[in-house]
Amino acid sequence: MAATASSSWKELDGYVSKLIQVFPNLQIWKDIERKPITVSSIDHLISDGLNLIEDSTITVFTGGIVIEEETKKMVILLKAGLDSYNRDVTLFHELAHLHHPIYLSRRSNEFDGFVSYAEETAREAITEWLGRKARADPELLRHAVLSFGLEAQVYDKSSYQAFQKIIRGQQCFPFMEQEYPVLMD
Ligand SMILES: [Zn+2]
Repeated sequence: MAATASSSWKELDGYVSKLIQVFPNLQIWKDIERKPITVSSIDHLISDGLNLIEDSTITVFTGGIVIEEETKKMVILLKAGLDSYNRDVTLFHELAHLHHPIYLSRRSNEFDGFVSYAEETAREAITEWLGRKARADPELLRHAVLSFGLEAQVYDKSSYQAFQKIIRGQQCFPFMEQEYPVLMD
């Protein structure tokens, strides 16, 4: 069964593993190996002019990428007021799209029919799968959140490890690390 951005990690991981098994020769798998999300790849996008805006007018979706008319620079739009985990997962979902502009971005023919619909579903699932894995890496999480000027928030083990030195609050007592799971759902 297909998985979506709102599927559990188990469903998402199972679906993408199946895609890898059934379609082992898709270019996207090679592209993922070649262009992993790293601290320097995030820096590269930012030095190319990538910006982020938390937008309080967004209602129907949690995030997206637009091209600013005047500057022609890319902007990640995040719905304002998302809870911390969803904010960070959405940020990394959009970063995953941006790392694979050829294989994980929408094409103009996406509404041509069922084939395109199936492709779009697979593309979104792979994007979400990549994004959630990258979000769970404390170094990437810290770098992305701080680079885009977002507020550091602790809500799971990865975010604890990312921000324990920055946030000196009640949520960061050392003993708590053992209690936090890594959120993937
Ligand atoms: Zn997407």
